[in-house]
Amino acid sequence: MNHASEIGFIPSEKYVSKDLQKIAEKIFHDERIADEEGLLLFEKGSLPFLGSLANHIREKLHGDKTYFNRNFHIEPTNVCVFSCNFCSYSRLYAHREEGWELSAEDMMNMVRKYDGKPITEVHIVGGVHPKLNLEFFADVLRKIKAHRPDLHIKGFTAVELDYMFRKAKMNNEEGLNFLKEAGLDSLPGGGAEIFDAEIREKICADKVNTKGWLSIHETAHKLGMHSNATMLYGHIEKYWHRIDHMSRLRVLQDKTKGFNTFIPLKFRNKDNDMSSVPESTTVEDMKMYAVARIYLDNFPHLKAYWPMLGRQNALIKQVKRKPIERDTLYNEIRDYSNIDINEMQVNSSLN
Ligand code: SF4
Repeated sequence: MNHASEIGFIPSEKYVSKDLQKIAEKIFHDERIADEEGLLLFEKGSLPFLGSLANHIREKLHGDKTYFNRNFHIEPTNVCVFSCNFCSYSRLYAHREEGWELSAEDMMNMVRKYDGKPITEVHIVGGVHPKLNLEFFADVLRKIKAHRPDLHIKGFTAVELDYMFRKAKMNNEEGLNFLKEAGLDSLPGGGAEIFDAEIREKICADKVNTKGWLSIHETAHKLGMHSNATMLYGHIEKYWHRIDHMSRLRVLQDKTKGFNTFIPLKFRNKDNDMSSVPESTTVEDMKMYAVARIYLDNFPHLKAYWPMLGRQNALIKQVKRKPIERDTLYNEIRDYSNIDINEMQVNSSLN
């Protein structure tokens, strides 16, 4: 059997404490780390230490490849019945004249704009409008599929779905089956925020709870649909809340294997009710990504969502990687190694 030090580099005790060394040994032996070890990484791990462990795992999974896809977004509305304190996007129904609301035809016009373009995915996500119901969205899905059957439709957070299904008096399975038959292919990961009930109560009390979020994703996986998972970090949560959040995802992923990607979302404090909460530093952001890569050993991918992280920081992660265009399910489409990625009009996340 290989000794750990022959597989990966473990810094000496001069630089790293014994407990962190033990975690590194585990990583290099492909062993899962425990929750308290994940917490220790947040509390004591330096960025170079965490980065080297995360990179070891990342290269073991994907070599020198990094993935992007070509998609476009449709945001049907920013009118929302909920009022999450961190949200700087939505407008309450009472103030809907300040927001927007697209008709089915508006959305189809957006789809038509991409006719003839090598786009593989449309991502549909928005606020929770009380009048835009399950039937309305099923109709939009059918129209998109009729116009462009090859387009993968990734749509609706568990927050939107939970509201739609409850209004339609359907359970999660009935609602998801209904949308799947209309053309929905997979779910994005939004609305997870932080699973801990106390923190959730403080930042987004009125929308789907943790049990509901996890149940929708579990049901989607059971029906053969893949999904992603997010976590909003860097606000009032503690490190252990992050581990608790990722732990619940890791447990569900062991059961279903239906998650493609984990997406840490950096809390932003502009134009919302949490503007007094400072934002995390770039070093803290990178540590978050590294610990997630180490802890979530059963998630194939991590996504750097550049609109929230900042494009430059997302690109830092891609240094000297081979850019591979993928579809939603990570089937490889084309290797862009010899093309300047900045010249491409990539309207999506690098992940
Ligand atoms: Fe904003 Fe989404 Fe919360 Fe609505 S549910 S307030 S859109 S974060």
